[in-house]
This record gives sequence, C-alpha cells and structure tokens, in this order.
Amino acid sequence: MFDISRIFENSGEQMDISCEMSSESTRGLKGIAFVRPASLSGKVANRAGIVTLSYTASGTITTQCDRCLKDVVRDFEYGFEHVVVRSVQHDNDEYIIAEDGMLDMDSAALDDVLLELPTKNLCSDDCKGLCPVCGADLNVTKCEHI
Ligand SMILES: [Zn+2]
Ligand SMILES: [Zn+2]
Repeated sequence: MFDISRIFENSGEQMDISCEMSSESTRGLKGIAFVRPASLSGKVANRAGIVTLSYTASGTITTQCDRCLKDVVRDFEYGFEHVVVRSVQHDNDEYIIAEDGMLDMDSAALDDVLLELPTKNLCSDDCKGLCPVCGADLNVTKCEHI
C-alpha cells in the first residue's frame, strides 16, 4: 500500500513506486504460480490534476502446457499505465481507485498481469499433447491409439 494522498493534492507532484508483489495476493490463483514475487517499479504523477500510475511489472510464472500439462516456466515484463482516482461514480476498469489516497499496488498489478498473460500456454509450439485414450505423453512415447 502506498499513501499517495499528497499526489492528489498537488499538481506536478510525483512519487516513485518500487516494490515486490506480495505472495499473499497471488495465493489461490488457478493454474498459475509466481516463481518469485513480481517486481513492480514506476511512478505516480499528478499532471495538471490528473493522477497517473505508470509502471513495469516483471517476474516469472509457472503454468501448465494446455496440451501435455507439463509445467511451463515463463518470464514476463509488461508496462502499464492507468489513471488513478479517489472514488469512481461509474464502473470503469481503466481507472484504479485509491480509496482514502491509498494505492493498493498488489491488487492493481495482479489484475494487470493476469489480463496480460497469454491465455494459451504450450511447452513448445509443436507439443504433441497427451493421447486422448490412454493419456500417454506423445512427446516422449508412442502408444497404440495413434
Ligand atoms: Zn506440452
Ligand atoms: Zn494412447
């Protein structure tokens, strides 16, 4: 959590953000595990009354190959930019809400990274997958069904 209330109050004000995503916030994610906490770095700045958060998230995740279910390790580095508001009247996913001036980087970064991660995960582009009948890993073995 970052207290960014002073950023809201003064145009031209800015603050560097540098932290690691807490592992608490990534617990219980389906099919994805962070190998190490993602590092987040960037800044919050007030330009002419508009507060923007821009940052880079980088880390390593493991997920499973869609075809053979083998673990796939993937490094990522994504850049994000959002307008930060203290409250929002209408639902707007583009905005990050910092209630009472408190910016929750964990939840913001988790949402961002999950949206950005590819929905398809393959251990290799030509992964042969598992036999639908006996479940043999066809990358390493042949079975009678194919
Ligand atoms: Zn595979
Ligand atoms: Zn088979």
